[in-house]
Amino acid sequence: MAFPFVCKAYTPDQFPALQAYLDGLSFNLFRPKFIVVHNTAPPTLADYAVWQKRGSPSDEQWGRNLEAFYKSKWSGGPHFVATPRGAVVLNPPNAPGVHTPSWNRVSWGVETVGDFETDAFEGPIADNLIALLAVLHHAAGINPTPFVLGRSGLHFHKEDHATTHQTCPGRHMDKVNLTSRVIAAMGKLRGADPHAEPHPPAPVAPAAPQKAAAPVAAPKAAIVSAPRAPPPKPAARAFDWFFDLFGTG
Ligand SMILES: [Zn+2]
Repeated sequence: MAFPFVCKAYTPDQFPALQAYLDGLSFNLFRPKFIVVHNTAPPTLADYAVWQKRGSPSDEQWGRNLEAFYKSKWSGGPHFVATPRGAVVLNPPNAPGVHTPSWNRVSWGVETVGDFETDAFEGPIADNLIALLAVLHHAAGINPTPFVLGRSGLHFHKEDHATTHQTCPGRHMDKVNLTSRVIAAMGKLRGADPHAEPHPPAPVAPAAPQKAAAPVAAPKAAIVSAPRAPPPKPAARAFDWFFDLFGTG
């Protein structure tokens, strides 16, 4: 059951509480393999700025409005919305949502306030989406890379060939840039948690040969480090495919 929605809002300085909330959930029935990023459009960032100026609706009230909207149409909705004020949890994170035709059973849907075909992706909304995505990947034990369509890595809605939202989340959101900023934010999260297991494993540089006698030592080092190195081939292929289709924007 994807209803009722959670409708709980967090400001960026409350994201550790969001992390704690996610850590306390049981993911026996549904666990995301990757995250799909969307834009809300509507509202655009300008629409949202008017709400903010008026002080209403609060993100939680907006969540309840969205719940009524989704409930009248579908069996669920997106799991999270990044907003200029922080983030809102909608669809229960441990139940499948409804946000993209092909991947509802395997992904979390994350909406982002704005229309990034026209809105610039910068300022608080960019900071909050990146911080939210870092928390979510960390909580689910998944990574923004490698990108393999329908299987792993950070996805954009428009990459779902079955969707009619062929620009979502918009050309001003650059996936390569977003991915690297999320990975950097995940590194900071791990740095703040002394008990955290590092994931992904840090790539291990092959040991440099030390002396003339090194021909024996070098292959040994390569064998030791090989299992810990991320598989570069599929990732590179997937991103080439992405560039072919969408360019860098
Ligand atoms: Zn979308």
